[in-house]
Amino acid sequence: MRHAAPFAQQTSKFVLFRIHQGPLRWAFFVQVMCDVNDRINVFAGAHFDRLGHLRSDSGWIDRCFDEGRAVWVPVWNDSNLVITEPKQQAVLLPSDALPQDSRDKCILLGEFGDQVCFAVDLGESTKEQPPPMPHGVFRGLRTVGLLFPNDQAALLAYAQAMVLWHRRHRYCGRCGAPSSSHDAGHELRCNNTDCAQVIFPRIDPAIIVLIEYEGRALLGRQPAWPTGIYSTIAGFVEPGESLEDAVRREASEETGINVGAVRYHSSQPWPFPSSLMLGFRAHATDSRISLNDNELEDARWFSREDVRAALLSGKLRVPPQLSISSRLIAHWYDDGEAGRLAAIIDNITQS
Ligand SMILES: [Zn+2]
Repeated sequence: MRHAAPFAQQTSKFVLFRIHQGPLRWAFFVQVMCDVNDRINVFAGAHFDRLGHLRSDSGWIDRCFDEGRAVWVPVWNDSNLVITEPKQQAVLLPSDALPQDSRDKCILLGEFGDQVCFAVDLGESTKEQPPPMPHGVFRGLRTVGLLFPNDQAALLAYAQAMVLWHRRHRYCGRCGAPSSSHDAGHELRCNNTDCAQVIFPRIDPAIIVLIEYEGRALLGRQPAWPTGIYSTIAGFVEPGESLEDAVRREASEETGINVGAVRYHSSQPWPFPSSLMLGFRAHATDSRISLNDNELEDARWFSREDVRAALLSGKLRVPPQLSISSRLIAHWYDDGEAGRLAAIIDNITQS
């Protein structure tokens, strides 16, 4: 059983307070100090204790709600509840803000500050308006995740991943009977006693790799991406593959490039809906590009000067800073003598 490091040892520290306003009490996070590790990707980081040893203790969970320690992390469609002014913050609802039967659907996330967070699904619909909330609006993490402090982004991503997993496993994949939630939402069990399959939360591993050859980086683009965006090579790990196998296969399938040495970089939870991005840097053994599987419409080798010139001319855009691909590209660029990629992007953004 893994436990997070004590809260005081985390890279960010927060205070929690409540604003009493109307019939509902609202909890807001306020960031008072942030020292973000440069290698921690957005949505990553052990910012809270997941309390795995208490998931099966229904008495303890009831006391969390009865004593007011419980707060809700609501998810509606694929969006989280946030405030955007004066800056973006997560909005957590006190335990009495939702109907009593919401407890039956609660998913224990863990201890964050001095409160215990539970994810709750407020439903999914492409037609209906979001549930009315006196404060806050629902926003998708893909578009606004970068604007949160890292520990809040991680908490919201965790909530979203668990809710989406519940939605996609309402029925047993073996016998088709409905499933029911156990262990504070971390197990789903088939209701058919002859089957009784236990289903655990799943993640889908995907590799993402910056491939180098004689000082140049291999970047490609898919036809559906916005004009000018080039990114690193990526793809899902297939059954029977090691991560290194997946790096080499994806590089070969997408670009025809053969890869030699592979080195781990970092990883990023990507709850859209259930991926774990595993980042690598690798060296190619040749440079001849061949788009074998038509997933990419173009792939090229970029020197650091190529990247700098293309960014400044507007012919190249790198992926949003939210993604691990942007970190891989930036760390490769910064390893050279050409300065920091972030400085170029800041200049473009401000001009
Ligand atoms: Zn079953």
